[in-house]
Amino acid sequence: MVISIIAVLAGMLLPAIGLVRKQARMVNCGSNLRQVGIALTVYKQEHDDSFPESLRSLFDPTKAALLEPGEAKILFCPSDPFRGQGKGSDKFNRSGLTSTDLLEELWTPEQPCSYLNEVSGVEISAAQLSWFGPAAEIGALPPTPTSYNPTPTNPSWWQGKAHQQKSGYPDPTSPTPWALSNFPMIRCYWHEEWSSTNSRSSQRVVNLTWGFNIWQSIPYWEHQVNPEVPF
Ligand SMILES: [Zn+2]
Repeated sequence: MVISIIAVLAGMLLPAIGLVRKQARMVNCGSNLRQVGIALTVYKQEHDDSFPESLRSLFDPTKAALLEPGEAKILFCPSDPFRGQGKGSDKFNRSGLTSTDLLEELWTPEQPCSYLNEVSGVEISAAQLSWFGPAAEIGALPPTPTSYNPTPTNPSWWQGKAHQQKSGYPDPTSPTPWALSNFPMIRCYWHEEWSSTNSRSSQRVVNLTWGFNIWQSIPYWEHQVNPEVPF
């Protein structure tokens, strides 16, 4: 009798413990992203309001060491089973997006790292230019050379995202700047829930935003803000 009561109580408690652990990992992840945001803020102030080539370069001693080497641990989410070593497809497939959206190039300069860097210095590919606004506008942005691409044809991701943030693109109903508090810069896809049949049962992405706060969204965050935005 006593044992069965304990079994019932334990059965009630274990899912709750699991939930607390998941939430603790999300808080820990948000804490990482907040510290990345502080490092990015300092970097921007010291580099004419531009973003670094990659999050890894925040730790490069040749580039104004903003963080101690040991602090690179803030680039690893506690819910990331690959500890930052997974390939881009390992990470991004979990977002439920299609193979054409893999964005391998956004992960590559960051290896090893758990996070997707939307303000990366990598060049926007020709196929992705339309994501950032009318060709006349995005084409007018000057490409910024980086150490891994000294002769880019198109602007970098951070330039495209800065333009999109200010223009409100692709919001067709309100072409005004996106709110700083929910426009993502760095994103973590390791907190989504998956069923035994490998289908996604919840969509939880942890974002460091343009306003340097932490915001939880769905993968297509624009639709959480405004369902009118076209895919
Ligand atoms: Zn995370």
